[in-house]
Amino acid sequence: MKNLFRLAAIIAALVNTVSAANIVALGVNKPADCPALRPLLEDLKAVQFPNNWTVYVACSDVVWQKIIQREDVEGLTSVGITDRVHKLTIINGAMYSPLFSFDRQVQRTPVRILKHELGHIICDSRKEDVADGFVDSGVCKNRVLMASASK
Ligand SMILES: [Zn+2]
Repeated sequence: MKNLFRLAAIIAALVNTVSAANIVALGVNKPADCPALRPLLEDLKAVQFPNNWTVYVACSDVVWQKIIQREDVEGLTSVGITDRVHKLTIINGAMYSPLFSFDRQVQRTPVRILKHELGHIICDSRKEDVADGFVDSGVCKNRVLMASASK
């Protein structure tokens, strides 16, 4: 949590273009220079993030490395970071590269990775199993448990 302000600062420094409402390409001079942007926009039609959310896409490995180093999450994730306090999700654009390997990922497609991040948001949970459960079921395991506990 201590690094959230620094993360906001580095994002501010990296933002060069706003491609569409709430979707920001990081590390390029213009949207066309970000190879991940077009497929991401397509996938975000199927996986709809809240209107008040901002989805950032790291358009190069250099940018992504900077982000995960600042977040102290290196090794924990290689494709997505969701910050529920600041209402933002950062996606590693490399996942849209044909060379990208999903071997180390629980979720094996970009759409499922986006749904996982959306699960953190909708379920308001930092737990990975809750987000993964949302990918398959569209419901929040934590909410179900709370609901049954209150009966
Ligand atoms: Zn997660």
